[in-house]
Amino acid sequence: MNSDRNDAAFTHTIEAAGSCLNCRHALPRLVDCAPAYFEQGSIRCGHCGEQVDLWQAALNNAARLSIVPAWALANLGAGKTNLVIPIESAKHQEIDLCRHGVPADAKILARNYTGQGDEVTAVEWHGNSPPLRFPGTVLRLMGVPLGEGPLPRTGRVAIAVVWIRGDDSDAWPYLTTAFEAAAAREYAPSIVFAQSAVEISIMPIIKQRLRRHAAADRVENFMKDSLAYSHALNAVLPYMSAELGAPRMPDAVRGALNKMRKKRNDVIHEGDKVAAVTAEDAMEGLCAAAFGFEYMRYVGPILLEKAK
Ligand SMILES: [Zn+2]
Repeated sequence: MNSDRNDAAFTHTIEAAGSCLNCRHALPRLVDCAPAYFEQGSIRCGHCGEQVDLWQAALNNAARLSIVPAWALANLGAGKTNLVIPIESAKHQEIDLCRHGVPADAKILARNYTGQGDEVTAVEWHGNSPPLRFPGTVLRLMGVPLGEGPLPRTGRVAIAVVWIRGDDSDAWPYLTTAFEAAAAREYAPSIVFAQSAVEISIMPIIKQRLRRHAAADRVENFMKDSLAYSHALNAVLPYMSAELGAPRMPDAVRGALNKMRKKRNDVIHEGDKVAAVTAEDAMEGLCAAAFGFEYMRYVGPILLEKAK
């Protein structure tokens, strides 16, 4: 049976870039408030009016929650949905998350089921081959009674889900995989994919810009043989942004991207054991990747449109 939205006693979906450092009020979605942060260096809290350092707001919350990485990701661009729904014992029930504010193209990163009032809880139902990663956006649940008492019975179950929406950009699948890996506590692969997401965001824009004034094959060779990602991040991109009157990537973001680059190189060259990537490292790296991705989404059109 499909649950109707009206069955839910409570439903709440939010995508927030951390919370205000002054009043703890949830800030807007990263994609919506990042441009103001890049332009002004802070954003205004819609609740208390304080100017908030968006980077610190997102990073503080993510670092604080890094002991439960899947939930920490909700501060870095992932969404979070909470609902409380009646579930009947021994009955199969499907919850279409799209009816509770989750986009149809979202990937589920984590879920939690907690019975309310010691009556019934829910477990996930699956066929003979349980999927390793959660497929789609429909929860297939079975009500399980808690403790003694008459059967069947119905109880309220709190459901919490963390998810990341889809995006058309070439870099997004890499960022999504980085988030999935972090949610699974696989921190070394997470930062490898996170850095790839940033590289794929930066390099094609630099390439397109260079091709305005240099031969295509020369640019191709330069990008392949000479232009390291660190040079692109720390020299070419700041130069191009400044020349074209666009805000530079905030130093805090670039600094964290450099820190992640060194960790990622340790992973690639010396292995996971030597690199010893912690949950805090991964959260800072993912925060940097999410902000780096948003910076390129913001600055890319400026770098390309203003070029003559
Ligand atoms: Zn505030």
